[in-house]
Amino acid sequence: MKLTPCGWAFFVGPNRGGGRFKRETTTKYTPNMLRIAIQAKGRLNEQSTSLLAEAGIQVAESKRKLISRAEGFPLEVLYLRDDDIPQAVAMGVADLGIVGLNEVAEKGFNVEQLMDLGFGGCRISLAVPKGTAYEGPEFFQGKRIATSYPNILMRYFAERGIQAEIHRIEGSVEIAPAVGMSDAIFDIVSSGGTLISNGLVEVEKVFISEAVLIANPDLDADKRRECQQLTFRFNSILESRGMKYVLMNLPKERLQEAISILPGMRSPTVLPLAQEGWCSIHAVIAQELLWERIERLKEIGAEGILVLNLENMIR
Ligand code: ATP
Ligand code: MG
Repeated sequence: MKLTPCGWAFFVGPNRGGGRFKRETTTKYTPNMLRIAIQAKGRLNEQSTSLLAEAGIQVAESKRKLISRAEGFPLEVLYLRDDDIPQAVAMGVADLGIVGLNEVAEKGFNVEQLMDLGFGGCRISLAVPKGTAYEGPEFFQGKRIATSYPNILMRYFAERGIQAEIHRIEGSVEIAPAVGMSDAIFDIVSSGGTLISNGLVEVEKVFISEAVLIANPDLDADKRRECQQLTFRFNSILESRGMKYVLMNLPKERLQEAISILPGMRSPTVLPLAQEGWCSIHAVIAQELLWERIERLKEIGAEGILVLNLENMIR
C-alpha cells in the first residue's frame, strides 16, 4: 500500500513499481490491461459511464467497488474522487482518466491531454459581494480570496503582478465572504445560480473547463494502440453529436440545386427512385442548419423528408 501526497491510499500491482503487498491482497487486478480512472460519484460519473457505453463499453456502477472489469473492450475501470484522478494517471496507477480540466490544471501532474469530451462544462471565476465597487483585476491587490483552486488563481495573479492572500478551503467556498473569511471567492460557476443566492457577482472568468481524457505519458506501444482505438470511438461519438441524417425525395431536375443547399461529408448520396424522374437524397446536416436547409429544400420540391439521429460519424 502506498500513501500518496494527497492522502489517498491505493494498491500498486506487482508490475507497477514495487508494491509490497502480494497480488492476492489487491482488488481485481489484471496486469497489462488498459485501466481508466473515472469519478466514482458526482457530476462527471454518469456522463463518463454513458460515453463509455456509447463507445460499446459497459461498466458496472461504482457502488462500493474500487475497480471493475468493463465489457466490450479490454479495459478496467478505477473509481476515484475526481481530485485524485490526475495523480493516479501521472503515477501509472491508471493509464487513462476522465476528469475536469480544472482538476488537471490545478494539480499540475505530468499527464497527456488526449481530447476534450464535450461535457462537464464550467468555468472558475472570481466573484465579489454584490455592491462592491469593482473596476478590474487590480481590485484583488492585498485582498483575501477563498478558493479550492489556489494554484490556478496564483498563476492568474502572478501573470498580472497582483499580490493577494489566497485561502485554500475545500468546500462551501461561496459562503466565505458572508462569514468574514474572505473579501472575494474564486470558484466553479456553471449557471451562476449559486453565486446569486449567496449575494455574489461574477467579475472575472479565469479558467474555462470541461471533462477531458488524460493519459499517462509513458504508455507502452500496446496500450497506446488500445488508447487510439478508444479515442477513435470517442471522436466518432462526439462528431455525430448535433448532427442529423436527412433523407428526402426530389425531382431529378432540381438535383444540382439540392446539392448546393446540402452540406455533406463529401457530397450527398443520390439514389434513383422507382418512379421515373425522381431521386432520393441522403445527407448529414448540423442541427443548427437543419430547419433553414429543409425550408430551402422544400421550396425546390423536396418531399417525404425524414430526419434521423446519428449515433456515430466516422470520417
Ligand atoms: P469528488 O467527490 O469526486 O471529489 P467533487 O464534489 O469534487 O467530487 P463534483 O461536484 O462532482 O466534484 O464536480 C466534478 C467536476 O464537474 C468538477 O471538477 C468540474 O470539472 C465539473 N463541473 C461542471 N459543472 C460544475 C458545477 N456547477 N459545479 C462543480 N463542478 C462542476
Ligand atoms: Mg473533488
